[in-house]
Amino acid sequence: MRYISTRGQAPELSFEEAMLTGLARDGGLYLPAEIPVMSQDEIAALAGLPYEEIAFRVMWPYVSGSFAEDEFRAIIARAYEGFGHDARAPLKQLNENHFLLELFHGPTLAFKDFAMQLIGQLFQVALKRRGDRVTIVGATSGDTGSAAIEAFRGLDAVDVFILFPHGRVSEVQRRQMTTPADGNVHALAVDGDFDDCQAALKDMFNDFDFRDGVKLAGVNSINFARVLAQIVYYFSAAVSLGAPHRKVSFTVPTGNFGDIFAGFLAKRMGLPIDRLVVATNQNDILHRCLSGEGYFKGDTIPSISPSMDIQVSSNFERALYYAYGEDGSAVAQLMDELRNGGFNVSQGAMEALRESFDSGRVSEDETLETIKNTLAHSAELVCPHTAVGIKVAQEHRSADVPMITLATAHPAKFPAAVEKASGEHPPLPSRMSDLYERPERVTRIANDLGTLEDHIRRHIAE
Ligand SMILES: *Cc1c(COP(=O)(O)O)cnc(C)c1O
Repeated sequence: MRYISTRGQAPELSFEEAMLTGLARDGGLYLPAEIPVMSQDEIAALAGLPYEEIAFRVMWPYVSGSFAEDEFRAIIARAYEGFGHDARAPLKQLNENHFLLELFHGPTLAFKDFAMQLIGQLFQVALKRRGDRVTIVGATSGDTGSAAIEAFRGLDAVDVFILFPHGRVSEVQRRQMTTPADGNVHALAVDGDFDDCQAALKDMFNDFDFRDGVKLAGVNSINFARVLAQIVYYFSAAVSLGAPHRKVSFTVPTGNFGDIFAGFLAKRMGLPIDRLVVATNQNDILHRCLSGEGYFKGDTIPSISPSMDIQVSSNFERALYYAYGEDGSAVAQLMDELRNGGFNVSQGAMEALRESFDSGRVSEDETLETIKNTLAHSAELVCPHTAVGIKVAQEHRSADVPMITLATAHPAKFPAAVEKASGEHPPLPSRMSDLYERPERVTRIANDLGTLEDHIRRHIAE
């Protein structure tokens, strides 16, 4: 499979090259030149298989050419062996036709482990083969950073630097980033918000001297390998509920649009997904856009679902690419306009987006209320992000299509909000119960490109 940029001006790459590169050199995001399609028979045959086998069958067409079949099976096996649940992504019933897809049984208790654990193993195999070493820099609103650190800690071909907004991640999220003792792990608390961290990361990628000098690699949700790993659980969940013979819908708590874009690819691959519902908190640029109000940046307002506190959703560019008929220059122009505040979406592109996507927005009070009601009605304690999803899913229910809401994090990652809403304290799983006792290691740093680049240059291993 060859990979192309959403802006049409970067060279085509193999899967391995696109994965190691992250952001394309024209500023765009990589996508497969063609989306592979699975037949209805092939989808039906997934029912009842182990998660790892479904993962292999769904992802293989995207990676063949870069990895051997046995090698890729072994990578998948290692990626998910540390999960605390045999089903990897178990489905739980909330009521007659509403289900929760639990994506928080990985090492850092959020869905990002699905992609990050896989990408860690993929990088290790690819870099070993090349005799190469890279510097991974990521920006996180909380969960990506810890997931990246867990995936890359201790690997000798990689240094990991994670930028997170100082004071704006939960204590559990922060400790998961600052307590790993491995020398190749570097947590940086930036004086700014998540969009500042993400902008700094983009600037580093566009500084080609720096990028080539430190062999910069990105594992943020723009990395196509991340999106790829997330396609798998749409298949595993849908076939559990009767796909391809029955349609299903998904509601996805959304920030950077990576997770829900994986659902879009699953649909394009032939999975009978009826609706893909974008659930946002009060940072609602996507909901406003999908409601026809254009894509205009506002200020990021901190919320109790901090992993969704985003005003610019990087992966939305990928959806726009398809909505604009795979026209890279149209996308490049929109992204230019975005630099000056935003853009209106053409009528044709709006219609294309609405073929797949719906959206809803949830206030802070409604989030707390939903945590409380879900405990009362379904005996489930859910995290605030998941609650945002549940609330929007309730607004988009249909009698004949089952709705699956993605439970993106474990409630124990956000104990303050969960306890405030429900009166119950969500305990950490026993395998990480000493998190609060481990010593922390973190560098507080100014939101300044030169300072950040200098720090990274000085701290990578020789
Ligand atoms: C990252 C994250 C999200 C948002 O996912 P995107 O792929 O960025 O849209 C939602 N919930 C949790 C808990 C997350 O960590």
